[in-house]
Amino acid sequence: MKALTVLKSFCTNKLSFSSEKELINDHSHVKTLHSGVIRGETPVYVHTRTQLTFSYLDFIKKEFGENLHFGLDHCGEQLLKFVCEDCGFVELIRKGCKIRNLCPVCARNYTHLKVNHAWDSVFSKFAMSKKYYLMHLVFTVPKEFRDLIFEDSSRFFHVIYKTLKRYMGKDELVGGVASLHLFGSSDFEVKPHIHVLIPNVNFSKKKGDLGFFKRKRPYFNVSQLRFNYMIEFHDEFGGGLKRKNVYVNYVKMRDMDRVLHRLRYTFRKPIENVYPMIEGANGNLSLSEWENISRVLSFNGKRIRWFGFLADGVKSKYLALGGISYERFSDWLVREESKEKNCPECGGVMVYVGKTYEFLEEGLFIIDT
Ligand SMILES: [Zn+2]
Ligand SMILES: [Zn+2]
Repeated sequence: MKALTVLKSFCTNKLSFSSEKELINDHSHVKTLHSGVIRGETPVYVHTRTQLTFSYLDFIKKEFGENLHFGLDHCGEQLLKFVCEDCGFVELIRKGCKIRNLCPVCARNYTHLKVNHAWDSVFSKFAMSKKYYLMHLVFTVPKEFRDLIFEDSSRFFHVIYKTLKRYMGKDELVGGVASLHLFGSSDFEVKPHIHVLIPNVNFSKKKGDLGFFKRKRPYFNVSQLRFNYMIEFHDEFGGGLKRKNVYVNYVKMRDMDRVLHRLRYTFRKPIENVYPMIEGANGNLSLSEWENISRVLSFNGKRIRWFGFLADGVKSKYLALGGISYERFSDWLVREESKEKNCPECGGVMVYVGKTYEFLEEGLFIIDT
């Protein structure tokens, strides 16, 4: 028997992000956290609405204005209704506010899509053989450069591309995705660093073909890479890097869960990073901490860039050399969204019947699953 609990006002039902780890792992909560029934009606699945903390909403009102505040406060109130063709089972899915840079729920949903697309269209193509692995590199950026990174982040990305080029030599081109993170994961200090994910795949200019390279034993030559990063950084900015400036680790590409975890970590938006910490602090933040949050959330530079043979615009061409046909995000999304949705009760086809707010007026039983 499933336990039934009455939820008097579901608006008070707050989903808490208890830790960063949970936030990253629990990407599917929107679909599976709770199921329930409306009193006296057909069984339904509903999905818990996330209420953002008052302190965060207050902050949004001050920094970003009434409109965004309204959007965030009402995120998820509108429901999309799906009905099973076979058994009449109803599923109500919350429609997000889509304010992706400020709403942790919508940010997470979007990241989830981007990650699935990256896996489906690129990384999974190298998951069939054990010779492939994913390299996860983190390039640190000294504190003194944080104002500069807000002004022009592309210079930092270019230094990293050049570092990798120098490492690989003239004839070999690697490809991957780089993502700028502005916060660390433990406090509200601005700590810019760049995550880079690259498969051990390279384009050889001599052969005109894609191949793979072995990791240099025992590991990717980290001291060489750090040295190269120092040279390129010095070239661009005239120095400032500490000796320990790059960290590297590896995941087997066949280990899908771990690769997805790295992708989610790397792709996540700043609000996904920072919101759990705001909740954790119960909104008791100092003025300078709120200022840092504001600064990071207002950052409007490009955070995620594909580069090398996986750069936007050339990746279809290069992947085709390896017999891989690349599907663009927009095409992938259309295909993903038109996929048949199945009834969780009988497996029948769920059909979209329209938008509703009806649920707001009903008492609700939540079944903890
Ligand atoms: Zn939202
Ligand atoms: Zn059904």
